[in-house]
Amino acid sequence: MKKKRIILISVVAVALVVCLALAITFIVLNVGAHRHRFGDWEIIKQPTCLEYGIERRTCKNCEVYEDRPAARLGHDFSEQNVCKRCQYEIPVTEGLYYTLSEESYAVSVGTLAGDVKEIYIPRYHEGKPVGSIAMNGFSGRAITAVHIPDGLKEIGNLAFSECEELTECSMSITATKIGNLAFNGCSSLKTIEIPPYATLGDNLFHDCAALNNVTIPQTVTQIGWGLFGGCTSLKTVSVGASISTIKSSMFEGCTALTDFTFADGITEIEANAFKDCTALSGLVVPKSLKKFGAACLQSCTSLDKITYAGTKKEWIAIQKELDWLANLDAAKDFHVYCTDGILNRWNVEISE
Ligand SMILES: [Zn+2]
Ligand SMILES: [Zn+2]
Repeated sequence: MKKKRIILISVVAVALVVCLALAITFIVLNVGAHRHRFGDWEIIKQPTCLEYGIERRTCKNCEVYEDRPAARLGHDFSEQNVCKRCQYEIPVTEGLYYTLSEESYAVSVGTLAGDVKEIYIPRYHEGKPVGSIAMNGFSGRAITAVHIPDGLKEIGNLAFSECEELTECSMSITATKIGNLAFNGCSSLKTIEIPPYATLGDNLFHDCAALNNVTIPQTVTQIGWGLFGGCTSLKTVSVGASISTIKSSMFEGCTALTDFTFADGITEIEANAFKDCTALSGLVVPKSLKKFGAACLQSCTSLDKITYAGTKKEWIAIQKELDWLANLDAAKDFHVYCTDGILNRWNVEISE
């Protein structure tokens, strides 16, 4: 009787140990490999008028978190051009010219004093908002800096075109439209902040030869063609997932661009998009891409590698228009790395 009891206790004990071991293994495996379930974004660093903050969300089941920038607030100006939040006052430039249409002013250059190189645009003029920078408003002027106040909505076509000495442009975070060729030929401009909800016009930064670093925010959805055409210093550019098409001539002649990673969700690369990007050596292409437009990679003489997130069969099925990959010096070494093998430019499988 006693012996039976000992055996029973032993069996139960062993069963318990086995159960415990299984449970621990299950927990360990799950923590290691679970799909994170993130909570809501919370602000962990408050943005200010000028500085970005930080938002964070944390997994409900582990310690993993993700951060993203919290948009800066932008100044909130009174009719006296003083920020209600931080008390910054715009030192408004004398001699600007204002045209009233409906209830707001469009501003342009007027009779500036000869030595004025830095322009401060007011948010309000004679009690009414300054809503826009006029078409051609400052084009061709020898100005070095322009401060566009938060609150201003629109920058007209050609507004700063050929301002060859312009090195600094502080942008209105609330701008909703930046017109065609607005910064065309601003050959000294190195960087610029693109407002989060702006529509970007055609050839916006055409021939901005010094522009080297630009981020198109995730929230921008409409861009024109030829956005960075001829930006020969452009090395780093980040394009948000909200843009599904790389527009025609978007990077044409960007001879310093060495690599480019498309956001997942891109479906089309239009004609001439990367034409003459002679330093471009590699591209990472998502599975979402359905079409390479005509001449889109023409004369990319350094390009020898595309990393594709789909299979060989899916790569071959992508529509490729005339001369999409013409004039490659590296053609003989050009490889497409698919998930299930490597193809050359004639879709022949090769082994490495
Ligand atoms: Zn987790
Ligand atoms: Zn402020």
